[in-house]
Amino acid sequence: MAQIEFKNVTKEYEDFIALKEVTIFIEKGEFVFIVGPSGAGKSTLIKMLIRDEQPTSGEVVFEDKNVLDIPREDLCNLRRRIGVVFQDFKLLDSKTVFENVAVATEVVDCPKEEIDAVVPNVLNMVGLLDKRDKYPVQLSGGEKQRLSIARALAHEPDVLIADEPTGMIDPVASDEVMIVLERINEMGTTVVMATHDEVVVNKMKKRVIRMKNGSIVSDKKKGKYDEQSDE
Ligand code: ADP
Repeated sequence: MAQIEFKNVTKEYEDFIALKEVTIFIEKGEFVFIVGPSGAGKSTLIKMLIRDEQPTSGEVVFEDKNVLDIPREDLCNLRRRIGVVFQDFKLLDSKTVFENVAVATEVVDCPKEEIDAVVPNVLNMVGLLDKRDKYPVQLSGGEKQRLSIARALAHEPDVLIADEPTGMIDPVASDEVMIVLERINEMGTTVVMATHDEVVVNKMKKRVIRMKNGSIVSDKKKGKYDEQSDE
């Protein structure tokens, strides 16, 4: 059984078709790149999984449950099990590194002792434990992105979704972010990363699903970004 299933998913925005009958199966523990030019439909696909958007037709299934059938009061549970990391970090500038992660756990009513145990653990995982009292403004771009990954990990999600996580950082910082994502994946978390970072994709040699104009044009194990350029 696949952990994530997109079955014939179509998404129309008014008169624009963003996704056309997309079918993807992702097994638990996979590392998958979704690649393709801007506007290909990558973010729309991610939003469907956390029910930020609903398909016009087709089904999105997470661990055997149709995401559309999840009652509204259980949506937070879905979003806890699927951590999301964005290109622009979405950090709280007035809070320290520690507090940025702690806030994510407080939202789900964790007891203080649990927060005190979980936060250092995830900060250690992303190599930021020694920066726990710094503020986001004192961090490099790569450190900010690793902090946003730590925050997504605070709920111990089954799946980590990253939407262009290397889009705003330099190549060295990108390598560090990818090492962290690979480590998280090796510990059993499924990682799905939307990107048009060709260098990163070609280095990692993971499954590559390529999209264009809302359709899947290829799906390869140990794939490359593409031999052709992306315009
Ligand atoms: P990608 O992440 O690959 O850049 P997106 O999923 O963001 O692509 O967008 C796919 C297409 O859907 C784009 O052409 C975009 O303009 C369109 N789109 C996305 N969101 C909306 C929306 N809320 N309303 C109308 N069109 C949208």
